[in-house]
Amino acid sequence: MANWDNFRAGVNRTANKAAVKAGEFGDAVKLKYKLHRAKGELSESYESLGKLTYDQLKYNHDHAAEVSELMGRITRQREQIRRLSAAISKEENAVCCANCGTRLEENMLYCPGCGEKQTAAKAEE
Ligand SMILES: [Zn+2]
Repeated sequence: MANWDNFRAGVNRTANKAAVKAGEFGDAVKLKYKLHRAKGELSESYESLGKLTYDQLKYNHDHAAEVSELMGRITRQREQIRRLSAAISKEENAVCCANCGTRLEENMLYCPGCGEKQTAAKAEE
């Protein structure tokens, strides 16, 4: 049972990572739309958790299994939102090579596109 849960969590993590990785090459608008949707899904999960918790406390119904599954889903959704927010911030603060316009990652000393030495990139941080 625990092994199956671990396996599923691993699959979901990989899927989320791949989705965000692909999204990183999209523009900030697409990422913001994804973030908006992810936040909506998280709200739905919280609502479901609230209903289950209410039912459990009010009528003493046992929803331990569903609550546990929801907790896992919420954790993954929160992680996805964190990644999307980071990707958006990265997209909005993207630095490009002054010589050829290639997107530069943080702390790159040379442009991977044209080999131009990068001096000014992120100097103020
Ligand atoms: Zn360049």
